Amino acid sequence: MGSLERADVVIAGAGIAGLSLALALSQQGMKIIILEASIQPSTPSLASDLAGWDSRVSALTPSSSAWLGERGVWQDMEHHRVGPYTDMRVWDGSGTGRIAFSAESLDVPLLGHIVENRVTVQALLKGVQQQTNIRVFWEEGLKAADFSQPDSVSVETQKGRHLTAALLVGADGARSRTRDLAGLAVRTWSYHQHAIVATVRLAEEHQKTCYQAFLNTGPLALLPLSDPRLCSIVWSLDDQQWEPLQSLDDEAFIAQLNRALASNMPAVEAVGRRGVFPLRQCHAVDYVHQGIALVGDAAHSIHPLAGQGINLGLKDVAVLVEEIGQAWQQGMALGSERTLRRYQRRRKTDNLLMMSAMEAFKRGFGSTNPAIRVARNMGLSWTDAAIPLKNWLARQALT
Ligand SMILES: Cc1cc2nc3c(=O)[nH]c(=O)nc-3n(C[C@H](O)[C@H](O)[C@H](O)COP(=O)(O)OP(=O)(O)OC[C@H]3O[C@@H](n4cnc5c(N)ncnc54)[C@H](O)[C@@H]3O)c2cc1C
Repeated sequence: MGSLERADVVIAGAGIAGLSLALALSQQGMKIIILEASIQPSTPSLASDLAGWDSRVSALTPSSSAWLGERGVWQDMEHHRVGPYTDMRVWDGSGTGRIAFSAESLDVPLLGHIVENRVTVQALLKGVQQQTNIRVFWEEGLKAADFSQPDSVSVETQKGRHLTAALLVGADGARSRTRDLAGLAVRTWSYHQHAIVATVRLAEEHQKTCYQAFLNTGPLALLPLSDPRLCSIVWSLDDQQWEPLQSLDDEAFIAQLNRALASNMPAVEAVGRRGVFPLRQCHAVDYVHQGIALVGDAAHSIHPLAGQGINLGLKDVAVLVEEIGQAWQQGMALGSERTLRRYQRRRKTDNLLMMSAMEAFKRGFGSTNPAIRVARNMGLSWTDAAIPLKNWLARQALT
């Protein structure tokens, strides 16, 4: 066995949360092993035609990009391609309610960036590969774990390798194996929606604006990429709606999309390959247990209408790094329940607040009840008129 078969921290999952955590902990001097069930992602070609864009994108808040900058990762992402946005327009597709935010009115240079997930993953991976104290086992996910020892966790991989660590972190996504092995309960429910995602070319420039319409069938977002004529769409549709749309050829799909966009958003003239994702909300009752912690989607997954999933995940990572970093400096056990409970306390309330706000938003906008529609439209218009309150709401999106 090589010396790294024992690590300070074993992380299950090499998604954005797992790679970020590995990088930040290794920068403090800890030895890290990452177990990833999938193959190592290849370096993307980043061609400029529609097929050269990842249909999975995230709206990263300025706080997220600043945190990635402190780890030396944002600089690499910016060098490839990130799409800054300065305006956001949200409205009710069938009523009169609307909210508009702009960076100018908030006195900030921009509201955030739309970034292809693979650009973020590649930049993180580059950072990880530069660290001599991180080892990644690809196609070798977490299979079993034993938490019965007080200061050490034993882990078995899908290839039968045995590892020990002071702490096991589950960054293995919404269907977390780590969470199941630790017996951490979740509250989960389906939205009965799927999201169709794709890169689209517009008939005119997007003007660095994010558009979001709350249609009867679910929210439809148009997210501006760094090319001024390209956007990424996230079209959330009720279960009966998405399949007929997904099975249309491109021409018919574009016609339906333009009908849904109506005159409120720029028209679409071409669409790239379409992907589909089921939408579920899931929240772990506890994020921690002696020797184990959950971060990112393993702890909570949220409707994409908020554009907040990975931003919440990066906040989890930042707080966990602070808490176990302190224990590390003081020579204390990394996996002590006391240390981990502090992380849970600091993150759970924030995540719960965002999840509840998004649920209320979705339920309010998704309702076909006429009384709720009227109240919603009044509420939206009022929010737009009440500038100080609206600005406060917008600031929540910036942090
Ligand atoms: C349509 C859509 C649009 C979205 N848009 C946004 C947005 O605009 N902004 C935003 O912030 N968020 C957005 N999100 C959410 C965001 O994509 C997720 O929050 C984010 O990808 C979660 O990252 P993660 O690293 O926690 O988990 P994941 O990305 O799910 O990564 C988990 C990793 O763990 C691996 N794994 C699984 N099982 C095992 C195992 N047993 N052992 C080892 N490894 C394992 C997986 O292969 C994977 O690589 C969107 C989500 C969807 C579906």
